[in-house]
Amino acid sequence: MEARLETEVCVIGGGPAGAALALRLARLGHEVCVVERHAFPRPHVGESLTPGVWPLLDALGVVESVRRGGFLPALEALVRWEDASGRRVHGRSGAIGLLVDRGRFDALLLGAAASAGVRVLQPAVAQRPERTSSGWALPVLHEGRRLLVSARFLADASGRTSCLGGRKLPVSARTLALYGYWRGETPHGPETRVEAGPDAWYWGAHLPDGTFNAMAFVDPELLRERGIGRRTLKSFYRELLGRSGLLEAWTAPRLVSGVLACDATCYRDAVPIEEDCIKVGEASFSIDPLSSSGVQKALQTALSGAVAVHTLLSRRGNAEAALRYYTEDQRYSVEQHAAWAAGYYRESRDYQERPFWKRRALAQTAPVSAEVRPPVAEDELLHRRWRLASEAALVDTPCIVGDVIELRRALSHPRLGRPVAYLDGIELAPLVERLGEASTEGLTMPQLADTWARQVPLRQGVAIMGWLYRQGLLTEVAASGLR
Ligand SMILES: Cc1cc2nc3c(=O)[nH]c(=O)nc-3n(C[C@H](O)[C@H](O)[C@H](O)COP(=O)(O)OP(=O)(O)OC[C@H]3O[C@@H](n4cnc5c(N)ncnc54)[C@H](O)[C@@H]3O)c2cc1C
Repeated sequence: MEARLETEVCVIGGGPAGAALALRLARLGHEVCVVERHAFPRPHVGESLTPGVWPLLDALGVVESVRRGGFLPALEALVRWEDASGRRVHGRSGAIGLLVDRGRFDALLLGAAASAGVRVLQPAVAQRPERTSSGWALPVLHEGRRLLVSARFLADASGRTSCLGGRKLPVSARTLALYGYWRGETPHGPETRVEAGPDAWYWGAHLPDGTFNAMAFVDPELLRERGIGRRTLKSFYRELLGRSGLLEAWTAPRLVSGVLACDATCYRDAVPIEEDCIKVGEASFSIDPLSSSGVQKALQTALSGAVAVHTLLSRRGNAEAALRYYTEDQRYSVEQHAAWAAGYYRESRDYQERPFWKRRALAQTAPVSAEVRPPVAEDELLHRRWRLASEAALVDTPCIVGDVIELRRALSHPRLGRPVAYLDGIELAPLVERLGEASTEGLTMPQLADTWARQVPLRQGVAIMGWLYRQGLLTEVAASGLR
């Protein structure tokens, strides 16, 4: 007879997104099972972690175990991007990234989920899930047997393969990554290397096991044009690296792995959340590896996804807000990152006219300008009169409030990219309402501070005024009317 397992939430995939989602949901009191295809540790790309992972690891309660994990601090990078001369980029103290062995890093996160009460089936391959009257039925191959997992809610954290399927909308030019691991005597230091080439960009970093991962990102068409297949891949990869400075002046570098190829195209899933299922991490969207922040994004989607799932399972009345929150968050992250990446490709001056660079420099969306006015001396602004910019409005927006998603009034303006409900933990709506009530003569900054005094301490009020000013959300009222 087929073995059966019942759980409230089943997560497919035990990478960073799956482990973090499972861990958070278990802490929120849910019964969770993770199905992971491979025994850990297993190799995985994505070894360079940005400093932005630390607050997320902190939220998961794993900072200390990551610190003790034997990973390398990413202290310095040599970036030959704008031109061939190159510049050195140093990590700011207190904001240092990490170079990890993803096998061990992922095992550490999944271990933390198991310690929080998550049931982990591993190695176990999830097959095609099907909807039932009470949720989902997921056939799993585990320890040579077929197991049927019944779950009320299904989370797809299976990465690029996305077990749940669905429409993937491309967000960037198609990109192929070719990479391999090297050993040898290197004349340069432990810095990470990022480099632009005529038809490729390159990334290389020393890893905790002493190997050096050297990657080349190219148009897949380049391989097709050159007739590159399995047998010629290795020599093509060596040829590409030879055009870069990654292994420059190494003594007898040895390639100690095969040459691996993987898709690195950016995409987003058209429907990242429904009432009974969610996609997190790369099952939801993928960003350009240029920013080295894929793992950070995977953890972020898992943390916000956990709140969305918790809301769907425990506050049916807020279901619509939860769906809207997660969907809008995905779209915003993808658009912001695509605009950032296109801007970065535009900065490469030497190859601007090459098709590889032209294709990537095209932003599909305009970046949201963070601030439109430079900071000015406070006393200069003190006696002028201000009112709320005409396109600013308060709109109902889904927000994370504690462990659930609720609708809150938030300040919206075309320039903001998305509505803002809280600033520095202070709810903006009541403050903005006061500002909106200001007569056509407007208010001076001291008058505004006075009006807000009951809701917010002076220091924070001044900071919020400064933010509104720099975002261009305050319009100056001239003595004779509006300016
Ligand atoms: C070339 C390249 C370079 C990159 N470099 C960086 C970098 O330097 N820094 C960075 O932060 N990010 C980088 N990334 C992105 C990073 O690898 C991903 O963002 C991150 O791994 C996503 O995590 P995830 O948990 O969503 O998916 P994954 O890490 O892919 O985890 C998915 C898990 O699901 C399991 N799985 C899949 N199918 C099934 C199934 N049917 N049943 C059971 N289990 C299943 C897999 O075994 C895997 O463990 C890079 C990506 C590419 C393509």
